[in-house]
Amino acid sequence: MSNKRDYYDILGVSRSADEKEIKSAYRKLAVKYHPDKNPGDTAAEDKFKEAAEAYDVLSNAEKRQRYDQFGHAGNSASGGGYGGGSMNMDDIFSQFGDIFGGGGHPFESFFGGGGGGGQRGGGRRVVKGTNLRIKVKLTLEEIAKGVEKKVKVNKQVSCHTCDGSGAKDKSSYHTCSTCKGAGSVRRVTNTILGQMQTTSTCPTCNGEGVEITAKCTTCKGEGLERGEETITINIPAGVSEGMQLSMNGKGNAAPRDGIAGDLIILIEETPHESLKRDGLNVIYDLYVNFVDATLGTSVEIPTIDGKAKIKIEAGTQSGKILRLKGKGIPEVNSYHKGDQLVYVNIWTPKVLSTEEKEVLEKLKDSPNFKPQPGKNEKSFFERIKEYFE
Ligand SMILES: [Zn+2]
Ligand SMILES: [Zn+2]
Repeated sequence: MSNKRDYYDILGVSRSADEKEIKSAYRKLAVKYHPDKNPGDTAAEDKFKEAAEAYDVLSNAEKRQRYDQFGHAGNSASGGGYGGGSMNMDDIFSQFGDIFGGGGHPFESFFGGGGGGGQRGGGRRVVKGTNLRIKVKLTLEEIAKGVEKKVKVNKQVSCHTCDGSGAKDKSSYHTCSTCKGAGSVRRVTNTILGQMQTTSTCPTCNGEGVEITAKCTTCKGEGLERGEETITINIPAGVSEGMQLSMNGKGNAAPRDGIAGDLIILIEETPHESLKRDGLNVIYDLYVNFVDATLGTSVEIPTIDGKAKIKIEAGTQSGKILRLKGKGIPEVNSYHKGDQLVYVNIWTPKVLSTEEKEVLEKLKDSPNFKPQPGKNEKSFFERIKEYFE
């Protein structure tokens, strides 16, 4: 999974690069490795895809921040994300609108307008489905180990009647007559500087290159309908409340040959009944009666891996903190793991029977019962500091 190259390295920019530098670095790579210039060269295609993915993340403030914080895991949830592979060509070409300046088919003009016959079929606008947001509740155990969740999502899917075309039937689905399917129209205007040629989105088809003369009655020409999909989400270990994962193309479908939106997964933590999370550490408050603390005992405590037995040494003082190494939460995309901290609280009885009172009264003045903290005893704050450093 993590054999992927660093996005900043791919684009050859520093981690503090601004939007302009990132865009310009990507533009150079996209031109260099563009499939039209390197036909049949799969190595170039891989480079092309790799650069596109890096640009997609680094040009988006939200995705970039997640990447800086969590590495590749921050933006991949499962096969749908970047975890399973790279972006598809449609995604990449749809990026070019903002990279090479809007209007018409920027790439075409970039490469000198040679028809090229790329798989995009001219400069058609690719319709993108909207992103879909869902919340996923996770237990502390699920967060600690990572989990595969199957989630039933209600979303926009391709209309089953027209297969997403939005047309009543084949005969009502045509190449746009205004732009001949190009998605854009050229206009020549006379100005004082001479003839100027401008390209704009075709007003008839709104850039899609197709014209629908009779609409599908199921979807009213939208090409979409509501439907359910069960999506498998692989949630990496170590996520936390409020974190967002995104899966490319798992959001709402787009009509016709469009690209589906993304599925954005918002993580929610279900509180554990006895363990508390503190960053990567897990905290447990243990209460021991003062006899056990005096004589020593062994107690069973909950951990995120199930029950564990721990030893309470004879003479344990209240406020002692025991550390169970590596029993905490792993860091996302890392081998680093937190610990479980066990706070030892000595329980002081609140109610006593007459006999109990008598026994304690007898012991009260015994010299061993007199508090005598040694000079080497660490203060409460020193202990806290030591464990949280
Ligand atoms: Zn339909
Ligand atoms: Zn048109």
